[in-house]
Amino acid sequence: MIRTLSGASFRAAGAAQPGLLKDARRQIHSTYDVAVVGGGIVGLATARELILRHPALSFILLEKEKELAVHQSGHNSGVIHSGIYYTPGSLKARLCVRGATLAYEYCDKKGLPYKRCGKLIVAVEQEEVPRLKALYERGVKNNVRDLSIIDAKEIREREPYCRGIMALDSPYTGIVDWRLVALQYGKDFVEAGGEVVTDCEVNDISASSESPPGSAEGMKYPIEIRDKKGNKVRCRYVLTCGGLYSDRLSQISGCSREPRIVPFRGDYLVLRPEKHYLVKGNIYPVPDPRFPFLGVHFTPRMDGSIWLGPNAVLAFKREGYRVYDFNARDFVDALSFRGLQKLVLRNVIYGIGEMYRGIFTSAQVKLLQKYIPEISPSDVLRGPSGVRAQALDRAGNLVDDFVFDGGVGEVGSRVLHVRNAPSPAATSSLAIGEMIADEVESRFAL
Ligand SMILES: Cc1cc2nc3c(=O)[nH]c(=O)nc-3n(C[C@H](O)[C@H](O)[C@H](O)COP(=O)(O)OP(=O)(O)OC[C@H]3O[C@@H](n4cnc5c(N)ncnc54)[C@H](O)[C@@H]3O)c2cc1C
Repeated sequence: MIRTLSGASFRAAGAAQPGLLKDARRQIHSTYDVAVVGGGIVGLATARELILRHPALSFILLEKEKELAVHQSGHNSGVIHSGIYYTPGSLKARLCVRGATLAYEYCDKKGLPYKRCGKLIVAVEQEEVPRLKALYERGVKNNVRDLSIIDAKEIREREPYCRGIMALDSPYTGIVDWRLVALQYGKDFVEAGGEVVTDCEVNDISASSESPPGSAEGMKYPIEIRDKKGNKVRCRYVLTCGGLYSDRLSQISGCSREPRIVPFRGDYLVLRPEKHYLVKGNIYPVPDPRFPFLGVHFTPRMDGSIWLGPNAVLAFKREGYRVYDFNARDFVDALSFRGLQKLVLRNVIYGIGEMYRGIFTSAQVKLLQKYIPEISPSDVLRGPSGVRAQALDRAGNLVDDFVFDGGVGEVGSRVLHVRNAPSPAATSSLAIGEMIADEVESRFAL
């Protein structure tokens, strides 16, 4: 049986959330109706939604780190996206637009701080204008609220130091600390009777060996989940939300390993406090449709700091936040994957540019100066980093939309994997929770 939570392992998360710490210390059991693997914002939002809908069932959430939401959910830009960019009708578009509304309502209800500081997507060259206008049309199709196109004079009124010839104004965009939001989901889950176990790295999901499938126990709880230390629980159904490890979690339950996850590290710069007056709200470039996640942006943070960037370079370690972080398995895994080889070959120039900007701050600042010419290299400092779980198919295409799937057979048919939960999954998290809960209900007949 998995050991119960120790106070130490939960202290940091619980310190901000005293109720969570108290409730999480309850004794856990060894059998559950549903186990959720992965305590990032997606796993927590989904576990919360499921237990609120099915209070009579037993739930457990298993997280490998000592604290919840410390990876992508704790290393991101902190933007509440409004849903402009995404292909109309895609899951990304639908879940982001609904998710943003739900996120604001949730923060209001729980008293979590956020700022609706808006966002300008700024065209600085004439050739970007048609793409900006197309983006506006797309946002309107996606039902994004309050969008408008503004001219150079209006840009200056909103952002006095920003140079641009035209911008898409999205006042509904905001900022929040997504980790705080995720911890609040965890608190809701625990208060509703769910169990959370941290420091528990799941490395096996298989048919239960203790109770043969024919026995009464085996019939009721046919799936066994083991962690690295040999602890185990049995359950009826499993949902994995493994972020940077979603492909490996899928593989250990006998499901497909593809799409593969390739980690891309993004390094931020931070603006020196005396220069904060240069930026009021979010300022974004017009995205390159081939690389929607590239392009540096200016992002105010809830703590008052201002982050600039990030770039995007291949990380040599999943969940490796420093330039020299290296893991042999992750490295070989990524480079031996045909999909990555093809992506790299097709985009050598872009890749080198991103690496160059990661090393030379002044090159990154040069890009930023296109939007705010007053910024100089001496105004910035190196800041934190995040690692993005980028799903790739075998042909080297970036998998853009959310992907959820399960498998077949005794284990596979009882497992649902969140394979790809790219940005803006934090914004979309409550809507993702609703959608996965619907999917779980129809697949698993809860
Ligand atoms: C640089 C960057 C900037 C971003 N900016 C934004 C933004 O501004 N707005 C926005 O909406 N989105 C943003 N995103 C996207 C968003 O942060 C992610 O899409 C979201 O956090 C994904 O949540 P998750 O729960 O799927 O993954 P994660 O937060 O990575 O959680 C996965 C969890 O699974 C756990 N896990 C993995 N393997 C195991 C195992 N074997 N056993 C147990 N536990 C396991 C991990 O430890 C982790 O806690 C950004 C992402 C990045 C990287």
